[in-house]
Amino acid sequence: MEIINNISLLRKTISEVKESNKSIGFVPTMGSLHQGHLSLFKKSVLENDYTICSIYVNPTQFNNSQDFETYPRTNNKDVELLNSINCDLLFLPTDREMYPEDERSKDYRFTEKINLLEGEKRPGHFLGVITIVHKLFSLVQPNKAYFGEKDYQQLWIIKLFTKEFKLPIKIISCPTIRGENGLALSSRNNNLSCSEKKDAGKLFEALVFFKTELEKIKYNSSYCTPLSLINTKKNALASIKKNPLIKLDYFEVIDEENFSFANDINYDRNYRILIAAYIGEIRLIDNMSLQ
Ligand code: AMP
Repeated sequence: MEIINNISLLRKTISEVKESNKSIGFVPTMGSLHQGHLSLFKKSVLENDYTICSIYVNPTQFNNSQDFETYPRTNNKDVELLNSINCDLLFLPTDREMYPEDERSKDYRFTEKINLLEGEKRPGHFLGVITIVHKLFSLVQPNKAYFGEKDYQQLWIIKLFTKEFKLPIKIISCPTIRGENGLALSSRNNNLSCSEKKDAGKLFEALVFFKTELEKIKYNSSYCTPLSLINTKKNALASIKKNPLIKLDYFEVIDEENFSFANDINYDRNYRILIAAYIGEIRLIDNMSLQ
């Protein structure tokens, strides 16, 4: 695997790959790679002639400097993993390459959904994400780019961004890979203690409970009323509310088509339940389709 740190070398390699008519699959990451990331790479290696990974802990998408500083960085181990799954190129840029002269996020205004949920709790987060993804897409010019459903709102926004900006890139969504107790794999899990990991499993439990209850309601009716939805949420969150080590940030149902909050459920539409919570100091997110 070739490792490139600067943009001019990357441009040269990309133009060579394009000249040889190879299709490019791209997986942008912040490193500290785990099986969740690897599932994206494996798909890309299968579907493309040439797979590119980027590892860059993007400062503009962090609204909390402590979170940025403590974000796990394991580049040597990441390189080994990428070699093992036949990734062709790793782009590992410095801040100076990605943000010359301390440039900040650009002001993208194609959707107000960047201000909901993660956008509301982490102001500026999605402007930082779109800024870096846009820069990376322009450099790498992939045919396909792979994103995890684990970060569902990010995936939804990037799909819309690609459409609105008419980028010739197919966004491929990949299912969430989970650990033993259902905990969605995440680089931030590295910062959890053993007992915190156990508590973190409660997020998955709440999602499963919620989905199961909604399925029971569906058995009797094609509609779940607002009151019934509120009660189901309350029941699903009971064990989280009782646990003093978990602080819930949000637990919301959205309509997948337009990312608007659902107050009731029409079973002929597609919805998703999204959760964010602090386990001690570590903030985790997860979600589940209600189909
Ligand atoms: P990150 O390094 O956290 O920015 O993630 C890079 C990509 O991997 C994003 O598209 C994530 O959604 C995806 N990803 C992270 N964790 C998982 C997981 N557990 N399962 C599937 N995809 C994931």
